[in-house]
Amino acid sequence: MKFSEMPYKRIDMEEVEKEYKSIIERTKNAKSGEEQFEIHREYYKFTADVQTSMELAMIRHDIDTTDEFYEKESDFYDEVGPIISQYENEYGKVLYDSPYRDYLESKIGKVTFKNIEIANKAFDEKIIPLMQEENALSSRYSKLIATAKIPFEGEVYNLSLMRKFQTSPDRELRRKAWKAVSDYFLSVTDEIDEIYDKMVKNRTEQARQLGYENYVELGYYRMNRNCYDKEMVENFRKQVKEYFVPFANKQRIGVEKLSYIDTDVYFTNGNPAPVGTPEEILAAGQKMYSELSPQTKEFFDFMMENELFDVLGRKTKRQGGYMTYIPNFKSPFIFANFNGTSGDVDVITHECGHAFQGYLLRDEEIREFADITMETAEIHSMSMEYFAYNWMELFFGDRKDDYLKMHLEDSAAFVPYGCMVDEFQHIVYEKPEMTPAERKAVWAGLEKVYRPHMDYEEDPFFGQGGFWQKQPHIFGSPFYYIDYCLASVCAMQFKVMMDEDFEKAWKNYYKLCNLSARDFFTNVIVEAGLNSPFEDGCMEKLVDKFEKKAFNR
Ligand code: ZN
Repeated sequence: MKFSEMPYKRIDMEEVEKEYKSIIERTKNAKSGEEQFEIHREYYKFTADVQTSMELAMIRHDIDTTDEFYEKESDFYDEVGPIISQYENEYGKVLYDSPYRDYLESKIGKVTFKNIEIANKAFDEKIIPLMQEENALSSRYSKLIATAKIPFEGEVYNLSLMRKFQTSPDRELRRKAWKAVSDYFLSVTDEIDEIYDKMVKNRTEQARQLGYENYVELGYYRMNRNCYDKEMVENFRKQVKEYFVPFANKQRIGVEKLSYIDTDVYFTNGNPAPVGTPEEILAAGQKMYSELSPQTKEFFDFMMENELFDVLGRKTKRQGGYMTYIPNFKSPFIFANFNGTSGDVDVITHECGHAFQGYLLRDEEIREFADITMETAEIHSMSMEYFAYNWMELFFGDRKDDYLKMHLEDSAAFVPYGCMVDEFQHIVYEKPEMTPAERKAVWAGLEKVYRPHMDYEEDPFFGQGGFWQKQPHIFGSPFYYIDYCLASVCAMQFKVMMDEDFEKAWKNYYKLCNLSARDFFTNVIVEAGLNSPFEDGCMEKLVDKFEKKAFNR
């Protein structure tokens, strides 16, 4: 069904509560695993209805924030969301404690039960007030950053609009833009320090009330880390330092030192941008996916036929982009704001990688199998960026090669940066009593380890360990950053594989998408022919091949 024709009805909370209570009661009283599973099937149907209403309201509010009807609907779901979460939690506990657990596990999978266990470890009613305070701090940071007013060249810009000048091919303009951004951060850094200090102490207190030594363990549960721990992540970062940092250091125009103002500029004539109109970009996407495989052709045609892209930038639209899924119509949906940069093509490659996975699992009855953790989700999307390489001429015309070079260098530079963000947070939460100045010193120290080529030219903010203050994940989603790094090195393994044997790589990728959460991340990657990034040797092997194959060295 076309998105515009999907009927919307607000959920009736009284009915919803009644249904949850009934499902929970009947599951408790069921006399067999078979009976519980039958009730679970009702639960799928019922929660799909609830989610469909929520998704439609959210998307329609995002695509036109001036639409008063959907604004009210969206507010309604913000309000009832926590009540629904509580019922979900309660139902999860009943399943977890079921005497017919073995039977249920054979039906809905062992990952599901591990996830319920973790959700329980991460929550207790007594920390609700702290969680509310944590949310308020998080909103305070987002609001501060979103409302930044930066005077520049006679106008006033926000941070996202400043990006254009910070990546301008005109080096002098670029320098001035970075200076303006640095001045802005200097003016608010004390407030950001205060917000973060309160966040760290709040999260540490939540952890202690739940019986943990510090926030690290709790943070891992919050990220639903169901198959790897702190030590494994540490071993991954160790390999990155040893093999990846020297490799990433060799990139970029062969310079000894790289000024921070040049990091995001890859060509003296400016970064490559797509050549067509938004409509032409979508048409190029359709051509690409029709040639890549029969499954991607079916997927992309479905997306286009059913109006499942809303990607044009409009004034009344929410900023940013995402992919989501509308259960009752078995439809992925992609939301974005095209702005004429290469980011528009990422929507067709990266976001469509996410959507393709959603599409592949649309007929799977066991919904938990589609419920993947973030590092797995990002492999689907980041690998699709590499599978799309052969079609980049459609998007970038004669600057195709420039785009590929930029994409490779950007991907290589990301892994050390992401690991730095991760290690920083481990240190911060292990020593919550550190002062803001000590935290900045920690960051400055990590810069020397992970980005030794970076030259901050004595900038009074960026040169003093302040860079992390512009990374929103550090505030809103602690420990969610290593996921991108893990996914990134898995996607690079696919890149190496496709350069050797494209068919084989595609087959393995397709397998990985189909597996989704049928098994744990550490197992599905091995089944798809990849090496685990946690295991010694993975990074050394990858860097060697990636450098030879992708960078032709
Ligand atoms: Zn993504």
